[in-house]
Formats: sequence, C-alpha cells, structure tokens
Amino acid sequence: MTVVSFLNLKALTEELRSELDEAVGRVLDSGLYILGPEVEKFEEEFAAYVGARYCVGVASGLDALHLALRAMGIGPGDEVVVPSNTYIATWLAVSSTGATPVAVEPRETTFNIDVDRIESAVTTRTKAVLPVHLYGQPADMDPIVSLARERGLKVLDDAAQAHGSKYRGRRVGSLADATAWSFYPSKNLGALGDGGAVTTDDSGIADMVRVLRNYGSRHKYHTERPGVNSRLDELQAAILRVKLAHLDTWNARRARIAARYQDGLASTAVRLPVAAQECESVWHLYVVRTDDRPGLQGHLEANGIQTLIHYPLPPYRQQPYLSGPHPDFLVSDRLHAEVLSLPMGPHLDDQQVDCVIETVKKYKPWKQP
Ligand SMILES: *Cc1c(COP(=O)(O)O)cnc(C)c1O
Repeated sequence: MTVVSFLNLKALTEELRSELDEAVGRVLDSGLYILGPEVEKFEEEFAAYVGARYCVGVASGLDALHLALRAMGIGPGDEVVVPSNTYIATWLAVSSTGATPVAVEPRETTFNIDVDRIESAVTTRTKAVLPVHLYGQPADMDPIVSLARERGLKVLDDAAQAHGSKYRGRRVGSLADATAWSFYPSKNLGALGDGGAVTTDDSGIADMVRVLRNYGSRHKYHTERPGVNSRLDELQAAILRVKLAHLDTWNARRARIAARYQDGLASTAVRLPVAAQECESVWHLYVVRTDDRPGLQGHLEANGIQTLIHYPLPPYRQQPYLSGPHPDFLVSDRLHAEVLSLPMGPHLDDQQVDCVIETVKKYKPWKQP
C-alpha cells in the first residue's frame, strides 16, 4: 500500500538540508541573535518579492494581524469585518485589540468573503475590513478596497495561506493598506518554528509595527507605546531567506498537483475547488466538498491516505464567541460540514497524487446505481 502523508515537513527540510545548515551556521557564528542582519535582509527580500515598500518581521501570524490592526489605530469599541469561515487566528487578532469581529459569509465557489455582503455588515463603528485568502486563493480585493475607500475603512488582508499568490497579475502583499503573513512551518513559506510579518506601502503602519513589536520603543529603554515582545527570530529569518528562494518552485509543484487532481477527479462525486479567473492560487490546501465526508475520509484513511478538515469548527462556534450575537451563517455551516483537504505539498510525486485519485474513485457508495 502506498502511504500518502498530508504534508511531509521533514522531507522538505531534507531537500534543502545543506543550504539550511549553512544559514544556521552563519547565525551561530555571527553572535547576533535578535534583530540582526538576517532579519533585516529577509525583510528587504520579502518586501521585494511581494512588491511592497516595507516588511516588518514579527513572532507569528497572529501577532502580525494583531500588531497591524493596532498600528491602524484599531481598539476597544471598534468593529472589524472578517469572514465567517476562517482560521480562528483572524478573529482572535481582532478581539485581542479590544475590537469586535463582525462576520460576513463566504462565496460558496471560492470559499472567500462574499464582497456583496460586506456593505450590510458595516456600521458607524466599523474601522476595517479583514479579508482572508483562504486555502491560497486571493479574495476579490478590488471591490473590497474600493468599498473601503468609499466608507473610510482600512483594509488588512490575512495572507497566512497565500505566499506568492496573485490577484489580477499582482502579488498579494501590496493590495491593501497592510498584509499579515504567517511563517508557521506548514505554510507555503514556513520557518522551522514560529514567525510572521507585516508588509505595507504605508510608512506610518510599518513604523508603528516596528515600534510595537519591540516593547513599544524606538530607542532602547525608552518606551512610547504599550508594546509587546514579538520579534522575528534571527535564526528563523536566516532559514526563511533560504526557503524564499525556493518558494516559486515549490508553489509551481503545488499548482501541478492541483491540476492533476482537477483532471483526475473531474468525473467523481466530489465537488472540486473553483479557481477564480482573476486569481492565481498557490494551493496552500486542496479542498474538495462531499456530502459523505466521514465515509470518504474513512475510506481514504483505510487505504493509507491522510486527509484533514479545515476547519472542523467555525470561529463563531468556538468558546470565546458562543455568546454572539450572531446571525445564522448557513453558507459557512454547510461548507464546514462538507470540506475535506486532500494531501497537498511539494513533497508529493505524481504517483502519490494518482494513488489519491484512484482511491477516491474506488469509494464504494458512489459506485452503486
Ligand atoms: C496560520 C494562520 C494564521 C496564524 O498564523 P500563526 O503564525 O500560526 O499565528 C492566521 N490566519 C490564517 C488564515 C492562518 O492560516
């Protein structure tokens, strides 16, 4: 039996082993372990890659979201529009500033926030819109940004799953007032530990995130804001510089795998992800929909194929948000009941992808008349 793992981080580390060893060695030898030259160079290189003027490295994706919101002046009493179907961090970042996340349903086709529903969620307290590029496909940014401009709102996009993806030919990372990134190991660009960043063209936002990530201080031992300690590690920055150079190659492998799935699964009972015309997804996840998820997932598992669910519970059904008040989120509820993520990552070869396809095709209940 071919065993197909969902993602194999060890294999990916092995692939770049000598380059990573060299980068780690460079930091060990430098004696500079916090906010040294590696962080500075990674910030320059990542800003150039996404096409933004500034990049500020921080300790995680959650912190990138939180600090960008604070740099935009968002705090208690404010509201921020978020998708109803996203990873919990998007909502937690808003809550941690003291503001309230106000959820908007996704489009069923793209899983991304439904632009047509944003306007009715905007109130006099709304300060920002926070779209998420879920599973690696950019949200429909142009209408979101123009609505925000009309209503005097900021736009922060959560690009934790979208390193390298494009919207109308432009890379995610400079499409909004600021963009938040995570370098959690399993992301398309992942460190060997935690990490995050904010990219922006706005010098004021970049400057404030820089101050907030380092005790709110611009000059050592002089604090001007109640900041935090949320710096990108020097060691992780050195690792990320190595991996950034391979990002496009690894994303191209993901795109090839996705194309193979799209072809191979076209005539099966699973519903395939829809690629929006204006977008180039980086396929962080390959997510199908099925009304028999437990059956299909069990069948795949019994045949050595590891799948995951992103996500089993939406944010509004998590403990901190149960008390609402929320409208019904029928689209999100349906998606959460149907989504299943198939193995996806640069570690997969064609034979493994074909094995997943053949195994899906052999699922019995679909073969009965
Ligand atoms: C991973 C992720 C985050 C959080 O990133 P961390 O680095 O784990 O804090 C935020 N939003 C989305 C959509 C994510 O996938």
